[in-house]
Amino acid sequence: MSDIQLYDTTLRDGCQAEDITFTLEDKLRIAERLDAFGIHYIEGGWPGSNPRDASFFEAVRRLQLRHAKIAAFGSTRRHGVTCDQDQNVRMLLAAETSVVTIVGRTWDVPVEHDLRVPLSANLDIIADTVAYLRQRVDEVIFDAEHFFDGYRSAPDYALACLKTAADAGATLLCLCDTRGGSVPAAVAEATRAARAAVAIPLGIHCHNDAELAVANSLAAVEAGAVQVQGVINGFGERCGNANLCSVVANLQLKLGYQCVAPESLATLQTLSHFIDELANREPDKRQAYVGLSAFAHKGGLHVAAVQRRREIYEHIDPALVGNHQRVLLSDLSGRSNIAYKAREFGVDLGSNDPAIQRLLTDLKELESRGYQFEGAEASFELLMQRALHGYERRFRLIGFRVIDEKRVENEPSLSEATIMLSGPDGKIEHTAATGNGPVQALDGALRKALIKFFPEIEAVNLLDFKVRVLGSDGGTGAIVRVLIESGDQHDRWGTVGVSHNLIEASWQALVDSLDYKLYKDGKGTAHQPRRAARAGEA
Ligand SMILES: [Zn+2]
Repeated sequence: MSDIQLYDTTLRDGCQAEDITFTLEDKLRIAERLDAFGIHYIEGGWPGSNPRDASFFEAVRRLQLRHAKIAAFGSTRRHGVTCDQDQNVRMLLAAETSVVTIVGRTWDVPVEHDLRVPLSANLDIIADTVAYLRQRVDEVIFDAEHFFDGYRSAPDYALACLKTAADAGATLLCLCDTRGGSVPAAVAEATRAARAAVAIPLGIHCHNDAELAVANSLAAVEAGAVQVQGVINGFGERCGNANLCSVVANLQLKLGYQCVAPESLATLQTLSHFIDELANREPDKRQAYVGLSAFAHKGGLHVAAVQRRREIYEHIDPALVGNHQRVLLSDLSGRSNIAYKAREFGVDLGSNDPAIQRLLTDLKELESRGYQFEGAEASFELLMQRALHGYERRFRLIGFRVIDEKRVENEPSLSEATIMLSGPDGKIEHTAATGNGPVQALDGALRKALIKFFPEIEAVNLLDFKVRVLGSDGGTGAIVRVLIESGDQHDRWGTVGVSHNLIEASWQALVDSLDYKLYKDGKGTAHQPRRAARAGEA
C-alpha cells in the first residue's frame, strides 16, 4: 500500500506539555535519533517564540541528517501588516529551513471573536502568508487550525480557507483537531470533504483531549490523508498529541501502510524510551506496543497458553516493535510461570522437576508474607539462584545501626547510619554515612563498605524507591513493602524487602540491589537467556 509520511512535532508541540523541557543539546540528539528512525519531517520549534528554538535551527544545519527534513513552525502574518513587516514571518525565514509550517485559522468563531477580523480578511492573511513563504522556501505546509470544529460550524468557510491556502501555493494542507475533541467518524467525513475540495496532499494533526488522537489520525489516513503529525509518546499541550509510536505501529502492522523500514520499526521501543529519558519521564508501562507491560502475562492460564501459541494473548509479535514477552510472578502463578521464568534466566527445569514445586512453595510463602516480585525481578532471580544453584552472596552483614536526629524544630532532621560487614576475604569493614533520611544514610554506608571490595558498585544508582503499607497483621502493626529500582550504565533492576520495620525492609531491598549487581556482572549480561553451549559451536 501507499506510503504515509511521519511528521514529528516532539520538539515543538511536545515541548508545550506541562513538565517537559528539552535543552538545545537534547533537541539536537532527538533530531538525530528521529532521523535515524526514518521520520520524514522534524518540526524543530517556533523560531519567533523563543531564542532556544532560533539557535536550534542554526545548530541543526551542522548535523548530518540522512533522511528527515527540518521544518520551522510559525503562524500567519498579523492583521494590518505585510509579511515583510511581520517579525514572526521574518524569523521563520531566518531559520533557513526548506520546509515552513504555518498555522492559520479556519474556524469562523475564533476568527471573529479571538482574532477579531472579518472572515474575508482572514482569507487574505492566509493567501498572503502562504504565497510570500512559498516564493522563498521549497515546501509550505499549512496547518489548518480548528479545521474539524470549523467544518462542523461553517463548512463552506473552513473549506474556503483550505482552497485559499492551496491556491496560494501551499504544498500540503494539514487538518488540525486543535481542541482534540473530535471523533473518528467526523474526522473521516471532514477529511473526505477536504479531499474533494482541494487537489493537494492532506495531513492530519490531532490532539488527545478525548483520548482519540490516534484513532482520529488513522481515520483521516483511511479517508485520504498522506501525512500524520504527532509526538513520540504522545505528550504535548493539555492531554497531548497523537502518539506517533502507536500511529506508526498501527499504520504499518494493522493497516498495511508503509512509513518506515521494518528494521526501524523494530527499534520503536528504544526510540520511545530514549525520548522519555531525555524528557526526564518514567516510561509508561502500559503504553501500547512499547510499554513494558504490553506483552506481560500474569495469570497462570495465560502463561500456559502463550507458551503454546503466543498469538492467543498477544495481538502482534512483540519483536516487530522491539518489545518482548514477559511473564510476571505473583500469587496467580501456576507452575508454568516458574518454568518460563527459569528458562528466561537460563535455568533449565523440566516442568515435572520437584525443584519447581519447591520454588513455587517458597514463592507462595513469601508472597503470603507480603513479598511481591512483579517489580522486583532481580530479587526473584537471586532467590531462584539460591534455591536451585546454591548461589551465595559475596559479603556478609554483621549489623547496622541508624540514628535519626532532629535538633531544632524548624530544621530538617538528619540521619546517620553505621554498618559492619565482612567481605569475600573475611575482612571486616565498619563504615558510617549521613543522609537526609535513614535509607539514604544506610545506602551510603553500605556502598562505602562494599566499594572497597567491589569497585563496580560505584556505577549503581538508586533510581526509585517506593513504600507500600500492607495493613496490619494480628495486632503486631502494619507490614511495609519497599520496592527499589536501581540501574547502572546497562540495565535497570528492581528489588524488594518486607518487614514490620521500614528500615529493615529498605535494607533488604538495598542489599539485594547491590548483591544483584555483583551477581549479574559475574555472570555476564543480565536478563539475557543463557544459551546452552553446544558441541561444535564456534
Ligand atoms: Zn498541536
